[in-house]
Amino acid sequence: MATQVDMDKIVSLCKRRGFIFQSSEIYGGLGSAWDYGPLGVELKRNVKAAWWKSVVHGRDDVVGLDASILMHPETWRASGHTENFTDVLVDCKNCKKRFRKDHIDEKCPSCGKTDFTEGRAFNLMLKTFLGAVEDESSVAYLRPETAQGIFVNFNNVVNTTRKKLPFGIAQIGKSFRNEITPGNFTFRTREFEQMEVEYFTNPEDAKECHQQWIDERFNWYLEMGIKKENLQLRKHGDDELAHYAAGCTDVEYKFPFGWSELEGIANRTDFDLRQHSEFSGKDLKYHNTVTNEKFFPYIIEPSGGVDRATLAFIVDAYHEEQVKDNTRVVLRFSKELAPVKVAVLPLLKKNSDIVTKAKALRKELQKDFSCVYDDTAAIGKLYRRQDEVGTFFCVTVDVQSLEDQQVTVRSRDTMEQKRIPIERLKEYLQVEFSG
Ligand SMILES: [Zn+2]
Repeated sequence: MATQVDMDKIVSLCKRRGFIFQSSEIYGGLGSAWDYGPLGVELKRNVKAAWWKSVVHGRDDVVGLDASILMHPETWRASGHTENFTDVLVDCKNCKKRFRKDHIDEKCPSCGKTDFTEGRAFNLMLKTFLGAVEDESSVAYLRPETAQGIFVNFNNVVNTTRKKLPFGIAQIGKSFRNEITPGNFTFRTREFEQMEVEYFTNPEDAKECHQQWIDERFNWYLEMGIKKENLQLRKHGDDELAHYAAGCTDVEYKFPFGWSELEGIANRTDFDLRQHSEFSGKDLKYHNTVTNEKFFPYIIEPSGGVDRATLAFIVDAYHEEQVKDNTRVVLRFSKELAPVKVAVLPLLKKNSDIVTKAKALRKELQKDFSCVYDDTAAIGKLYRRQDEVGTFFCVTVDVQSLEDQQVTVRSRDTMEQKRIPIERLKEYLQVEFSG
């Protein structure tokens, strides 16, 4: 039976091994803001690259976009965020603390009294001012979702790519929400990265298309190594849906703090392009040149969180096992996601011939693989270190290597060791990683 790790272990490992640090830690940290360290940034880049490969390069009907974070304020009126993107907050009249109204029953969670102010809508968009003057005319918002950058570029993309329905536009980028209650490590933060596809389709095909994206996105997490028993789909109830949405299904992961959303796949109907047409005065209808019809396409939106996915991949990869008298901690990342693919280790760091050979080998391997060299401990300890960050293979150069031109290749998962001739090493690894 799979035993699930607690979050404290994950947070501690992430800090100790350089995956994730608290933001501005030397100043006491900034609440719910996190920095990806040397291994975390590699993992996160691999997550984004795998997603891009799956939804853009691996298909012929999706193109990419990288829109700016700052957008014309009218965008957010059209999208409904200015008016509706709010939480209702109340203040405790006794201790003056502020809470989300839907998060309290009767008593103040802080002091236990029951006397609150009236609820007040609090907009979650992060506001800033552009230019030198701070007044209403210079207000701008850090985007609360990447999607709107895609909608406002609909005509630009159609006109430059000549794409015909159905087709999609994909984007990865930062978004910002002034969450009242962030938490659970990198799961809910005020600054986060999204990976979204807006897929435009004929209205009559929308339902079927929605289901295809739900299946495709669920399977992607499995292909990237998430265990099936830790992944589920959850269909939104009618009371959860945005007023314009015709349906939404979440891909959820079984985190130590409970089943939580990694990605939502929504049928947004024709709401977005209709709204932006109305507010901008520009015609964002699609023109079918064969039938000469003009209409607003429906939009299917798979919207995932990069930070959430990255956290899920770490949690799911975490594995402890007893090896003799020791506990071996292994991050069993998939081949595609492992931040380091190969570590080159000299058996004796005092033997300069071994060190020279090992360093030359690293230099050769790093042309093709994410690769590190480490000689700062004895070999047993070096292996454990690499296991703990999920390095797929360790290649060890020893005294015998100087004579027979072979090295020991150790597998992370099986701990099996094989002697491989140096001249065939690259080919061996390429075969292993392609399989
Ligand atoms: Zn109180």
